[in-house]
Amino acid sequence: MHTVRIYRLDHLSPTLFQHLKAAQMEAAGVWNACCDLHREARQTRSTWPGQNELQRATKGRFALHSQSVQMVAHAFLANIDTTRKLRATHPKMRMKYPWKTKRFYPVHWPAQAVSIERRRVVLPMGRGRASIVLPLDLPENSGACTLVWNRGFELHVCIEISQAKQAPGKVRATVDLGEIHLAAVTTNTGAAIVISGRGIRSLKRQRNMRHRQLTKKQARCQKYSRRWKKLQHAKNKMASRIERRVRDLRHKATRQVIDFCQDEQVGTLFIGNPHGVRRENKGRHHNQRMAQWEYGKDIDYLTHKSKQARIESFTGSERGTSSQCPVCRQKHRPKGRVWKCRKCGFKGHRDVVGSVNMHRLAYEQPVTFPRSVTYLRPGLSRRSSRAGTPRASS
Ligand SMILES: [Zn+2]
Repeated sequence: MHTVRIYRLDHLSPTLFQHLKAAQMEAAGVWNACCDLHREARQTRSTWPGQNELQRATKGRFALHSQSVQMVAHAFLANIDTTRKLRATHPKMRMKYPWKTKRFYPVHWPAQAVSIERRRVVLPMGRGRASIVLPLDLPENSGACTLVWNRGFELHVCIEISQAKQAPGKVRATVDLGEIHLAAVTTNTGAAIVISGRGIRSLKRQRNMRHRQLTKKQARCQKYSRRWKKLQHAKNKMASRIERRVRDLRHKATRQVIDFCQDEQVGTLFIGNPHGVRRENKGRHHNQRMAQWEYGKDIDYLTHKSKQARIESFTGSERGTSSQCPVCRQKHRPKGRVWKCRKCGFKGHRDVVGSVNMHRLAYEQPVTFPRSVTYLRPGLSRRSSRAGTPRASS
């Protein structure tokens, strides 16, 4: 099984920076060449170029490793394939075939091309050209690398990880994803856990506020002036820092879910997909929170981590699970964090109610409401910059 580890390439020398930039521009050239060839074929109604034709057309023309060139062509063909299918199944989307002239494109090196030495990684640029050498200490089981731009260069490294030998057990569990509580998990044995999403929420709020302040200041500057650029730099720096912190918290939170499942001997995990919740217009503050709620990432991370633990996971709509009483099945929309039933007087945590109801949906087997719920926070979120410094004695 593979996972991707991200290495930030900060503090590069200007020469190396230009080198990396040139490589990405070269890869964009390959993409553009594929684009032109394909457009011509479409316009003249001749046979569309396949892997062989594209390879022949791009071979030896670009200052990249031959396999890096092939990977671009490969990605291009995958793109064409998806577009063709979507045009047939979803005509309303009016998908266009790739048309935009790209300036940059990520450069990919397959595992065979990469050579890992002591404290450095050598990425070949083709015969007769100097390789890119990065001072990174990669683990031995790493393979393919991709050079990505994300407000600065990053190297995404594919790493081989071991999978669990067998499933932890045969217990069935469901996950309710939420924005305030990232995940509420219940099992059919009566165990429950709630992971807080408040840390992520707070970081995003911090980012939105800082973003607003900086944009306001920028509005008073001449566009692209020195001061404007300084503010833009501050904005990017802040945004990428918060993005990394949110990603870290998300990994920790989903790890806690999977650890809980392993402790409770879970064999199958149902992940409720909350799509549709974001459609409703509930005022600008709520709408912004909903728009920035990345439940797709939660689903991805949970699916990947459960695969590693050999827990079988599947997703489906969670429609209506959070608006039904788990005891008497009375329906009403809850207000606040506690679910109160008007008919039978049941009281319980709102997200746990959703998760309990999912058992009926996913496994057609109702479970009783758990007696006790564990609450966890995924690590420290907003740590004070002065934390850990000794207090001045009074
Ligand atoms: Zn009830």
